[in-house]
Amino acid sequence: MSDTRPILIWFRHDFRLRDNAAVTAAIQSRNPVICFYIQESADAKTESAADWWVAESLLALNRQLKEKGGQLHLFEGDAEKIIPEIVQQSHACKLFWNRRYDFKGKETDQILKKSIRAMGLEVQSFPNNLLNEPWTVKNDKGQPFRIFSAYWRAVQRYMNIQAVLPCPENWVFSTREIRHCLGYKDIAILAKETQDSSWKIKLKQSHRFGENEAHKQLKSFIENDLAHYAKERDFPAKDGTSLLSAFLRSGQISSKQIWHEVTKNGSGEGTSKFLAELGWREFAWSVLWEHPDLNQHNLRPEFDKMPWKKASDNLQRWKEGQTGYPFIDAGMRALWQTGFMPNRLRMVTASFLVKHLLIDWREGEKWFAQTLVDYDPACNATNWQWVAGSGIESAPYFRIMNPILQSQKFDPDGQYIREWVKELADVSTAFIHTPWKADKQPANYPLPIIAHEEGRDRALRAWKETH
Ligand code: FAD
Repeated sequence: MSDTRPILIWFRHDFRLRDNAAVTAAIQSRNPVICFYIQESADAKTESAADWWVAESLLALNRQLKEKGGQLHLFEGDAEKIIPEIVQQSHACKLFWNRRYDFKGKETDQILKKSIRAMGLEVQSFPNNLLNEPWTVKNDKGQPFRIFSAYWRAVQRYMNIQAVLPCPENWVFSTREIRHCLGYKDIAILAKETQDSSWKIKLKQSHRFGENEAHKQLKSFIENDLAHYAKERDFPAKDGTSLLSAFLRSGQISSKQIWHEVTKNGSGEGTSKFLAELGWREFAWSVLWEHPDLNQHNLRPEFDKMPWKKASDNLQRWKEGQTGYPFIDAGMRALWQTGFMPNRLRMVTASFLVKHLLIDWREGEKWFAQTLVDYDPACNATNWQWVAGSGIESAPYFRIMNPILQSQKFDPDGQYIREWVKELADVSTAFIHTPWKADKQPANYPLPIIAHEEGRDRALRAWKETH
């Protein structure tokens, strides 16, 4: 007789049915399945743009599961308490999940594996949304790589990326009742919460959700932008990048799927540059794997002595896009309005905070974590440490980006600036990067918070004192 006990599938930042190893293994076993997600206590405290994105993505996943005849069950609270109850009430025989690689997630999973196995269940974990498991890429001495270029060469030489898994067929959902388990949350409550979210009101027009939308976005990028990616990616007004980061972070598309589609359809400089950016994402996760407290501690200890200025009015002006530097302000305002900022601007705004304003990179990291829809603990902290110079692979601190030259180079006619800094809409191109030099000052736009030379010299002095 066939085993009718359910298999539990715990979704975690892998909100897709295609190329989802845990889902495929569960469906292929032919047992009925129960799909669930837990809004874990740690996630629930502050509502960030990324939380809102995840909530909308869960609703999209629920719609997909409904089309298959089932649903996503939602819980809120502590996974270590909730899962044993689900196991008991559903009489499940197995629990499957795709791995997570951050310290807290990993720790919770290890504890759970032990306790659920002790209840007599089989627990299986599968690789999640990386091309390589983060502990697998090592140098000849068996050490993790410290330099991206060497890391990426090794990955390209040895990598054997598995084929993409199709969406499994013949779904059977268990009818066992789990609504009375601790922390059960009706999905309608989540729908209501996203409706009421202040992020939704602001961000909804800028974003679409779900696995199918992620694939449409990839297709459109490959058809329209991939060939020019290397040349155009740094020009924010051109929209020449894939805009896949939030889909990737929530696992609505996998890096493997992207890799295969891009290598099948593209070639040349654009393709290799794009794949290298995916490589940076991989590298960031391998750095986080080795340094679980990456968003808290300088990887170069000499930075512990930096005389950071107290977070103050200047930090607030940076957050609000009121620094008086149009390119910086455009990026910061776009972030607040859309939950997204192009990479070039992330670098320039981060550099400005850490160097010109001499504010600790951790303040910036926190603000991005709160406001980016694609917030990713590995990519965010690695990049902040890269910009600050405190990371293992970093831009040297003394290389200070000039916000005016960056603006002139990457937004030459000020199109991006005019889109986001409305006070400057009528400023001529001659003064769009330096409006304070115009004869007539634009109304309601601040003067520079600090002169570029003064900020640069102060940053260099601070760096010299501590190195
Ligand atoms: P594309 O240019 O199309 O790149 C494709 C994919 O490659 C991206 O979706 C992303 O997954 C990956 N990628 C690209 N650049 C990088 C990079 N420098 N480091 C790691 N992965 C990269 N990216 C995040 O996904 N989440 C973050 O929280 C995040 N914080 C950042 C903070 C700072 C200070 C900086 C400088 C960069 C940060 N990035 C972060 C990296 C990068 O800016 C974004 O991944 C990129 O802008 C997303 O746009 P896209 O999908 O169009 O990228």
